[in-house]
Amino acid sequence: MSRPDLCLDFANTLYWRGQSAPTETLNAPADLAAWTKAPKAPSPREFEQAIALREAIYRLFDAQAQGKAAAPRDLDALNSALAQAPGRKALKRNRGGYEWDIDARSGTALALLAPVLWSAGDLLAGPKLDRVRRCANPECGWLFLDDSRAGKRRWCSMSACGNRAKARRHYHKSKEEEA
Ligand SMILES: [Zn+2]
Repeated sequence: MSRPDLCLDFANTLYWRGQSAPTETLNAPADLAAWTKAPKAPSPREFEQAIALREAIYRLFDAQAQGKAAAPRDLDALNSALAQAPGRKALKRNRGGYEWDIDARSGTALALLAPVLWSAGDLLAGPKLDRVRRCANPECGWLFLDDSRAGKRRWCSMSACGNRAKARRHYHKSKEEEA
């Protein structure tokens, strides 16, 4: 739970953002509980807060990926969530690795989203910020961290958007050649 792009995974729980009906995977508090592995579902209000926070995180990184300045209110939203998050005080062993030790009994949605917030902060303030990308397919909107050596990755994954875009270009090209 401490991968640098965990915050992007969370932002991508809503995808096909460029379509008229994006795909929402967090439709109810229970979905958020499953995503965060929380023992119980958050209240509807906490759920709403978490979704609002997700959108703020998405906008922060989307602005960055497009070389634009983020809206101050989105940074404010992340900062106030960070201020309410449990302390980042202790690590524990987990399956051969380590993870931040969060008191899951406090159980609030925001408490269990803490690793997402920390990953957002680390990514924003860290050396990989210029590697945050938004998929070049305008319908997709998926955010990802470009770990390629050349740093020229444009698609969320070649097997999905990349190939689809290639196929479309090919289609248009052959249409033009026919004309
Ligand atoms: Zn894509």
